[in-house]
Amino acid sequence: MLLKDYEQLVVNPQKAARYLQKLCWPNYQRFCPKCKNRKLKQLPNEKRKCLKCNYSFNDYSLRYFGVIRTTPDNWLRIIKLFEMEVQLEEIATQLALSANTIRKAITAIRLAIVANSLDGNLLFQRFHLHRLLKGEKINFFSPPVFGLIEHEHQVYIDFLPDLDLESFIHLKLNFLLPTQKIGSVIYTAPIRQYISLLIYDQKITQKYQLEHTSQHIPLNGNKNFWPFAKRRLANFRTTNSLNFLLYLKELEFRYNFKSKDFFGQIATYLATFIE
Ligand SMILES: [Zn+2]
Repeated sequence: MLLKDYEQLVVNPQKAARYLQKLCWPNYQRFCPKCKNRKLKQLPNEKRKCLKCNYSFNDYSLRYFGVIRTTPDNWLRIIKLFEMEVQLEEIATQLALSANTIRKAITAIRLAIVANSLDGNLLFQRFHLHRLLKGEKINFFSPPVFGLIEHEHQVYIDFLPDLDLESFIHLKLNFLLPTQKIGSVIYTAPIRQYISLLIYDQKITQKYQLEHTSQHIPLNGNKNFWPFAKRRLANFRTTNSLNFLLYLKELEFRYNFKSKDFFGQIATYLATFIE
């Protein structure tokens, strides 16, 4: 979204609120997010109570937008700054919100992106990602392996449940799978239908004494996704595979929406109910 169009959305708090409400309630007809009942009682503070199950909720309850408490105009500012790839600490400073609040908001955006990706359901189930939305921690004992596919100017970064760390090490050591490394990310020569496998180096290189000095990696000659992702991955600092997973899916989304309505798409995702 162009800055001048975005400015119209945040010109006053009411306009921002209307934009979010329209995404959450497309035909303005509220219903209980728990039992879908439409008989509601209006409460103070813009809340409603379901007359069937007694659940009290506001417009953003049980949606990604409800993960942090902030005003609709601040949510739109967070989305805009995220679109522009501003660092978390800088977003917090610009909005005078705590880094913790912004961290939760960015996690909500990344999870909403994952939830709407092709293997979103699988990733949520396999790694219990919904726990992150409750502020719980998730530990990965070994890093997941991803496969990269390009098709008609779109990129797909697939989680490969049948190719775990052990299979990767087997391919590397016994079948001499060529690899290189950028930042903390190991990438490989093509395998199956994938241009490359991608794996976060969670002390793997050290533990298995691997070398990533292969010369011929076709991905290096890629003119599409890889130049886009490479400089971002080189600067990406994390200490765990979970952040890597969320960031990879973010890059997949950023690349596929780079000439589309990125801002509107994120806002639409955040308006969906958390499954
Ligand atoms: Zn209800």
